[in-house]
Amino acid sequence: MKLTTDLSGLWANVERMGKFEANFNLQEDHSPDFELDKDLSSTAGLDIQLEDLELENGVLSVKGRQVLLFIPDHMQRIEDVLSGNNLGNRFHVADCQTLADMRKKKRFNRYKATYNISGLFKIYGTSSISNENVEGEAQLKVCKHCLGYLNYKGYRKGGVKSKIFGEFEISEFLSEYSTLFSSMPDRSQVVDKGGYSEDWAEVSTKYRATVNFCCEQCGVDLNSNKRLLHTHHISGNKRENHSDNLKALCIDCHRKQPHHDYMRVTHENMLFLNGLRREQGLFKISNWHQARNIADKAVDGLLRFYEKSGYSLPEINFIVENNEQSTFQLEVAWPSLKKGIAISAEDIKAGQLYGWNVLSVGEALSEMNQ
Ligand SMILES: [Zn+2]
Ligand SMILES: [Zn+2]
Ligand SMILES: [Zn+2]
Repeated sequence: MKLTTDLSGLWANVERMGKFEANFNLQEDHSPDFELDKDLSSTAGLDIQLEDLELENGVLSVKGRQVLLFIPDHMQRIEDVLSGNNLGNRFHVADCQTLADMRKKKRFNRYKATYNISGLFKIYGTSSISNENVEGEAQLKVCKHCLGYLNYKGYRKGGVKSKIFGEFEISEFLSEYSTLFSSMPDRSQVVDKGGYSEDWAEVSTKYRATVNFCCEQCGVDLNSNKRLLHTHHISGNKRENHSDNLKALCIDCHRKQPHHDYMRVTHENMLFLNGLRREQGLFKISNWHQARNIADKAVDGLLRFYEKSGYSLPEINFIVENNEQSTFQLEVAWPSLKKGIAISAEDIKAGQLYGWNVLSVGEALSEMNQ
């Protein structure tokens, strides 16, 4: 039997939902998380209860996946929001004061969670004219309390607030905190792979060979793991492949480019990369700017805060060796104070065991907000 269903309408919808590409296979048994990821990747989002929400990293997650939270119900304002005359409800990205207040008042059940990166949210309400139900998709804006909570790009100290708020991009934001999560969707699931020229793989390999597989930003030599070196388009146009427009960047420097595609970097890859940078003598940090360039993006807001608050320059990616069996690694460390911040639970535990005051990123953020 041959299936002749026309799926073009479906694909048009999928495209509209924010470039979500899933590899559909009707025969395949879906993993238990398939439905969860389907809901979380949609603009409609997933209904969540307070107990579903994980807050220990300072940012928001559900079942190990980083999410944004929004209230879809816009009541009588729905038409104004859909037409762009009203900005609508803000979406949350961190454990901000607004969420804390809602938790206290137990008024939490109206929230939906999503990791759709299109910037569109499916919202609804009641028409103020006809009294009928109205729904549609609208561009919502990020909550300013959340930006302050994270000191995102220096929002609470040192940055230009209106610029940081106006230029906020979901894909960039999710990429920056990706090292804190083990279950984020693969980049290929959420980013449109179109746009590259057909000979791109070849162009990219050739270009990276001309720079000896070294990152043109931080200098790390990635001959031992070429897959961690990307070819970036400086202009943003993925078809402009002349060498003036190309730059070889390690995945960490690549995700630090402004306005970038969603790019997931695991904590393991960061450890590997920083191990190479250390071996290759690239870990010379003499000012805060260099510290932030080398450090994991998940601690960027913290470092900006420490700098403006007059802290001494910390060590970045500091390895503490107690004996041959036991070492632990701190993202940020003040060795003379035996104080630091770590990303993995094992490093936090090991640090505490050896008498260090080691905070998780979530605990450090919460301390910053006290
Ligand atoms: Zn918020
Ligand atoms: Zn690099
Ligand atoms: Zn790029």
